[in-house]
Amino acid sequence: MSRPKRQEQEDASEEVTEVAKDILRMQLPIQIPGLGHVNMYALIDKDGAAVIDPGLPGTATWAAIRHRLKQAGLEPRHIHTVFITHSHPDHFGGAVQIQKESGAKIVAHRAFHFGGPSTHRQHRHEHVHGSHDHHSEASVDDLTIHMEMLERDRRRAQNPVRNFFGVLKRMTTPAPWKGPRERPDLRQRLRWLSFSTVGRSKFLPTVTHHVEHGDVIKLAGREWFALHTPGHTADHVCLHDPETGAFLAGDHVLPSITPHIGGVSYLSDPLKSFFYSLDRVGEISGVELALPAHGHPFRDLKGRAASIKAHHHERLDELRNIAKDIGTADVNSFMKRLFRERSWGDMAESETYAHLEHLRLAREAEAHRNEKGRLVYDL
Ligand SMILES: [Zn+2]
Ligand SMILES: [Zn+2]
Repeated sequence: MSRPKRQEQEDASEEVTEVAKDILRMQLPIQIPGLGHVNMYALIDKDGAAVIDPGLPGTATWAAIRHRLKQAGLEPRHIHTVFITHSHPDHFGGAVQIQKESGAKIVAHRAFHFGGPSTHRQHRHEHVHGSHDHHSEASVDDLTIHMEMLERDRRRAQNPVRNFFGVLKRMTTPAPWKGPRERPDLRQRLRWLSFSTVGRSKFLPTVTHHVEHGDVIKLAGREWFALHTPGHTADHVCLHDPETGAFLAGDHVLPSITPHIGGVSYLSDPLKSFFYSLDRVGEISGVELALPAHGHPFRDLKGRAASIKAHHHERLDELRNIAKDIGTADVNSFMKRLFRERSWGDMAESETYAHLEHLRLAREAEAHRNEKGRLVYDL
């Protein structure tokens, strides 16, 4: 018997609905494990429209964007602003094409990037594991380091040759919890390489306007406040409109699934950042309707943020129990106990790693490398 579909897994409906005053929900098709559509919201004003998160790169998305806009009496040339909640490709794919057609400004957090964290963080990580340096990672301002690394990556990306070798190095470096020989397989490396070099310019938008936490941005004729909500990614931004109580949640708070929290990030403790960001959105008063990037609009943002946080605390408890059972073990062994078999893989390992690192940085766990060079955790 197949399990009932979660709302985030539903196929993209062709229907365009006004979910709040001058805010249209347009579902675009995506095929990503666990997700069936991404919501692009069109915010209408007297100058045309702003769109939030215009889907994956590619022709299927573009056809859907045109089709959905048409139903609202709009064309791509009417879009004056593209707002990107975070740097995942299902959220910015249509941006380049829209900008080409309309000259729209592209707005995202200044930490917007694509291609995964560079190896700098992993070296830093190595350092912490490999020595008795008491300069704790957790005490360092995450975003400052993040921005320094991004700046380095950005400079390198401007030089095609250095970009190529940078990407190559990044893609052949094993995940931080793996041993030195456990590189991604060749097919995956080639896919990453083509994605990060050849395809990059075609679908990676140039952000023309950066938003910071607390900035005000005018959309649908109203003033929205930007909230930097790192966790799911380092650059995640939500928008809140106090006038109508609408809240654009991106992937930070989803209605029925918990957003992926990966351990390979510019953030030293992505889970800690995520908790912090969940608390911040839970504090906002007057939210009437949360508009997520996947799934249906929902009312209780505070309650949903709290239950996502509770879910991760349960997972941390599960890890503590698993450790009692299996003792010192590598990330893969913890992952196989924490996740059901159908979810096993890189994403589950990365999320397990994020949880284990959270415990390590809270001094509840220790980690060292075993004879194979793999990180093993002792809780
Ligand atoms: Zn995402
Ligand atoms: Zn997403």
